[in-house]
Amino acid sequence: MAPTRDYYQILGVAETATTDEIKKAFRRLAKQHHPDRNPNNPQAAERFKEVNEAHDVLSDAEKRKKYDQLRRYGAFAGVGGNPFAQRGARRGPGPQGSTAEDSGDFDISDIGGLGDLFSSIFGRRGAGRESEPEEVETSVTIPFRVAALGGSVPITLAMPEVCPTCGGTGAAKGATVNTCPECKGRGTVSFGQGGFAVNRPCPVCRGKGTVPSQRCPTCQGTAEVRVEKRINVDIPAGIEDGARLRLKNQGPKGRGDLIVVIHVATDRFFRREGLDVIGVVPINIAQALLGSRIKVKTLDGKSVVLRIPPGTQHGQRFRIPRHGIEKNGRRGDMYVESHVTLPEKLSAEEQEAVKSFAEKAGMKY
Ligand SMILES: [Zn+2]
Ligand SMILES: [Zn+2]
Repeated sequence: MAPTRDYYQILGVAETATTDEIKKAFRRLAKQHHPDRNPNNPQAAERFKEVNEAHDVLSDAEKRKKYDQLRRYGAFAGVGGNPFAQRGARRGPGPQGSTAEDSGDFDISDIGGLGDLFSSIFGRRGAGRESEPEEVETSVTIPFRVAALGGSVPITLAMPEVCPTCGGTGAAKGATVNTCPECKGRGTVSFGQGGFAVNRPCPVCRGKGTVPSQRCPTCQGTAEVRVEKRINVDIPAGIEDGARLRLKNQGPKGRGDLIVVIHVATDRFFRREGLDVIGVVPINIAQALLGSRIKVKTLDGKSVVLRIPPGTQHGQRFRIPRHGIEKNGRRGDMYVESHVTLPEKLSAEEQEAVKSFAEKAGMKY
């Protein structure tokens, strides 16, 4: 299967990146999008695959050379290279890019003629003029407490911007602009398909009809560069896992919207049930049997002393009113759930004590 994406863009490295830089970028991204860290997150899984695929090709000198040749031809420039799902670009059926498994046998002969190139490019782009995505999507995993209480989280994105060197023409300084040899300036090419001639945007000039005698060295002729952009995302209190936040006009080139899909990390102590939060507190067997006073932390970090009555059961819940999540003027409660822990080993003396207790209480063992 032919690659359909710009591997350099996927890894966020320059075309001239060294093997070391590629490896570093791969490690960072693979870690960030690893399925273990993003359970039930199809976007992260997709990114993880892409990153693996990109690394697979770019880390292999032979594969990279072949890939570079194709890339120079303009095959992948600006095609689905966005690491975020391009909703505007996901039109029409077609290949959604190859997977990590089948990239192992990447070979220039797999690309075949222009026909295959078309199917891999236009399968993603959809027919028609090259268009800007209306919105881009990214995802971020936030701590449980931030989701519950609200806050601000910074995200860093490699966002496409108009290339500052060429101002978006894709041409090197002083380059002459020539009529595209592939489409003869029409911007479209036609090829036969089932007896019909189908018009497609020209893959060489990407619909422009012209090609520069020399590509812009900054953007390699793609007319755009990826700029690391740091954005603070305001998280409203009580946001749910999977929620989508729309950031107006924060999309590529300052146009379109940025959609941030929120994933809420699991917390060691808290979990959520609607507006209520459940906090698990371990208690020992003596506390459970005899009762105790225990200190628990609420969601907002306050300490509360909770009285545990004698005979507290494993899993029993104690309510701390109005210490849950506040949303739309309503506030939930906090529940402390007792988890009774048992000693794993008893000394001979302790065993005797437990036996004597059991006999007094009429417990079989
Ligand atoms: Zn440029
Ligand atoms: Zn052309």
